[in-house]
Amino acid sequence: PAMLGIIGGGQLGRMFTIAAKTMGYRVTVLEPDPHSPAAAFADVHLCAPYGDATALQTLAGTCAAVTTEFENVDADAMRMLAKTTRVSPSGDCVAIAQDRIAEKAWIAKAGLPTAPYLALESAAALAAVSDDALAAYLPGILKTARLGYDGKGQQRVKTPAEARAAFADLGVACVLEKMLDLKLEVSAIVTRTSASQMAVFPLAENRHEGGILDVSIVPARIAAGLAASAQTMAQRLADELDYVGVLAVEFFVLGDDTLVVNEIAPRPHNSGHYTLTACVTDQFQQQVRALCGLLPGSTELMTPVVMVNLLGDVWGEDGRAPKWDVLAEAPNAQLYLYGKQEARKGRKMGHFNVMAATADAALEQAEALKDTL
Ligand code: ATP
Ligand code: MG
Ligand code: MG
Repeated sequence: PAMLGIIGGGQLGRMFTIAAKTMGYRVTVLEPDPHSPAAAFADVHLCAPYGDATALQTLAGTCAAVTTEFENVDADAMRMLAKTTRVSPSGDCVAIAQDRIAEKAWIAKAGLPTAPYLALESAAALAAVSDDALAAYLPGILKTARLGYDGKGQQRVKTPAEARAAFADLGVACVLEKMLDLKLEVSAIVTRTSASQMAVFPLAENRHEGGILDVSIVPARIAAGLAASAQTMAQRLADELDYVGVLAVEFFVLGDDTLVVNEIAPRPHNSGHYTLTACVTDQFQQQVRALCGLLPGSTELMTPVVMVNLLGDVWGEDGRAPKWDVLAEAPNAQLYLYGKQEARKGRKMGHFNVMAATADAALEQAEALKDTL
């Protein structure tokens, strides 16, 4: 069987690896952590830094195709691999998704709305902006252009002076985004193949806790027309990027039911973990399919579902795992644990999916189950 390669061995890499192996492929994982979630399932574990030249050469030489699970993979490494092997997503797409300034420019290029924002590449760029001009984006959120996730690298600012102080504090290129009044957050996950075939999953309604995804509710409890337009927008963006692979698009729904694109991720997404139990094809199978040049599978939702993230916070102070009894005994719940050794606060350790007749019923039961942990 063909060997597939993945850069990154976290939970997304683990679920990709399991999907690929189930579908009959072999998998090589490049990941420096010897105890990573994916390494346990890999046929070959290249235990080396992500940028290690020899390891990258091995990937290129032994894999029929290579993908990544992680947003901050070196885009040039992806471009280099693409010279000799099949790579998806492309280094160019990864580079865009890594940089909020480029990302927002591409969203605009696709004709889609973002929050009003100001790109601040440098201290000199900020110094050239008057307080009055800054005020148009306030109150706002200053976000580092690169390397932010789970709300890290963000500061909320109310006045021009606060914005300037926050920029000095972050000390890197940023975007200042106007704070919007969010009614809901939703996400759409698109699979696009090299022959431009696309399939989009049902919209997930996402609730965050402390900047980290807490639950995803599917189908999202919004008007069907609004959900359809978010799906269309996500597909338009994938087309504009000539994207090959799985692309996640996060949206804000504003009070007047308009949609704004927040950000994209060039990979399967935490808010798509519901597909593992509720869709005909899951998002990791789609990643394998796109990587191997197959058609996307059906994204049909077989049942309403709620996904709950399990963070290290629910583990005991002493690192002891919660009692899974009640969860394990619920016939319509499925538990996924990522095999991480150490439970730290805010660390994604696993998730569970609850399937029920309606999204509201699934949510009610999911919350009750979470309370038992
Ligand atoms: P992720 O882990 O999803 O990659 P991130 O660190 O890249 O997160 P964002 O998605 O940009 O950060 O923002 C995190 C959360 O902060 C959003 O899901 C939303 O709840 C809130 N937020 C971000 N931008 C805005 C905005 N312009 N107005 C209101 N709320 C916002
Ligand atoms: Mg992000
Ligand atoms: Mg986000």
